[in-house]
Amino acid sequence: MQRRHIDLINSLVHQDIIKDERIKNVMIATDRVDFTTDRAYDDTPQSIGYNVTISAPHMHAYALEMLRDKLVPGARVLDVGSGSGYLTVCMARLVQPNGKAIGMEHISQLVDLSLKNIAKNNQSLIDDGTLEIVLGDGRLGYLQGGPYDAIHVGAAASDRPIELIEQLKPGGRLVVPVGIGSQRMMTYEKSLDGREIHEQATLNVRYVPLTDKDKQWNH
Ligand code: SAH
Repeated sequence: MQRRHIDLINSLVHQDIIKDERIKNVMIATDRVDFTTDRAYDDTPQSIGYNVTISAPHMHAYALEMLRDKLVPGARVLDVGSGSGYLTVCMARLVQPNGKAIGMEHISQLVDLSLKNIAKNNQSLIDDGTLEIVLGDGRLGYLQGGPYDAIHVGAAASDRPIELIEQLKPGGRLVVPVGIGSQRMMTYEKSLDGREIHEQATLNVRYVPLTDKDKQWNH
């Protein structure tokens, strides 16, 4: 029998990658086939063109779990390297109502692709202002949308991303792969008085680099 979206999400629950009920529900509600038609229900990254991939579903789940206490109704969140738009939609659903999720992507064709993907079943998030996709270099963050309760980066920073850390609210958290070649998923959390950054290294990961658009895709 053909694997379905619900089977993919249930398998992430059984593997204890998805732990939280809210995250399970938003991932069930966000059908991966809207974002990649190729092997949509395999737990693997898939090409979306322009030398990049939609991340594997277990990486989307990990990212949401690492940020889950910040992805609450009313929160402002930024998803750098939004690519297909899958994760940004999940973040937007979690901050509803009154929250805002901004996806940032440097390839204009991928901005268009993600908006098409979102329009299939999630257009209301755009129409009610919960979700926005902006074109730009995510290494600089998006100052005018911040400060943020949560920032996720879907591509690897070569070094500690100072600009992004600056755009966190006091108590806000950044999740980002850091390193060249092999990377560690890092979390940076700003203290409630805004004066200190608590840094933690977690999983070993492999992401495409956060880079210049001409280096990534030479047309
Ligand atoms: N989380 C997304 C994408 C992952 S791939 C998904 O699952 O679909 C990483 C994305 O980061 C790609 O879309 C790539 O174009 C983008 N990217 C790389 N460098 C960037 C930069 N400097 N600014 C903004 N986006 C960038």
